[in-house]
Amino acid sequence: MIRFLLLGTGSADLYPSPWCACDYCARAREQEPYEFRGFSCALLYPDVLIDCPPDLPHLAFRAGVELYKVNHLLITHSHHDHFSPQVLLLRRSVIWAQKGTIPESLFVPQLTSLTVYGNGPVTDQCRNFLKEEASKWDLKIDVKRLKPFEPVSLDARTVCHPLLAAHRTAFSSEECFLYVLERDGKTILYAADTGWLPEATWEYLRQFSLDLVVVDATYGMAPATDAHLNISEACRLRATFLNNGLMKEDSLFVLTHLSPHWTPPHRLLAPALEKEGVMAGRDGLWLTIGDRPNS
Ligand SMILES: [Zn+2]
Ligand SMILES: [Zn+2]
Ligand SMILES: [Zn+2]
Repeated sequence: MIRFLLLGTGSADLYPSPWCACDYCARAREQEPYEFRGFSCALLYPDVLIDCPPDLPHLAFRAGVELYKVNHLLITHSHHDHFSPQVLLLRRSVIWAQKGTIPESLFVPQLTSLTVYGNGPVTDQCRNFLKEEASKWDLKIDVKRLKPFEPVSLDARTVCHPLLAAHRTAFSSEECFLYVLERDGKTILYAADTGWLPEATWEYLRQFSLDLVVVDATYGMAPATDAHLNISEACRLRATFLNNGLMKEDSLFVLTHLSPHWTPPHRLLAPALEKEGVMAGRDGLWLTIGDRPNS
């Protein structure tokens, strides 16, 4: 059985936006924490993390998962809500504990190595971070640049396929990645941030039968752009996947990267989407592929 955890499901605004005084954000702040969304990121449990936003440690606490088992960190692109290398400095805590005076009864296991994968801007940013101030070799971080449509084996069970996203913004034109992860015969597509998929990505996807699709729906009820999808375009994406045999009727199709300004609160969104065969993602949602139901 494969377990995939949505750690965060919010857009770059966060949900609600802490700096915004609008009615939607005010209403979202009044809701139970159930309605809150951190920056989008996900975990192929327990060892493959997709994206490293600034709130990653808190999202991991809230979901009750450990990060020390993560050996592979796949970054989609360099936008601040997806890659904040400073978060990786927390790995020093282990080294400080090992060097400092701690009770004899406390055994602090070695820090396991971590490989960060990404496009050119991500790997440049990560290498610069590792060189800044004093060298950060003790963080045990390797950096690997990926090229679109060139798969890499993460381990004997897992292959990662970086695909091109449609995510052009006024501020950057970097090649952003979507990821297909294959493990033990199951296949997952993680597709945030993206607009309607580029032709080359459609071509590449033809080889897969997807068991789980997690997809951008940033613009919710508003028009989609060439940087982000909305709810209706995400539903059209599901229909196109089904029509082209890229997924089965019972494959999971889940929305993420949701904004407080265009997407209704989860308690309204989830039942409306269910009729379309689509799940509304929420922070801390475990998605299982195999024999157990999703909760
Ligand atoms: Zn984003
Ligand atoms: Zn607002
Ligand atoms: Zn982005």
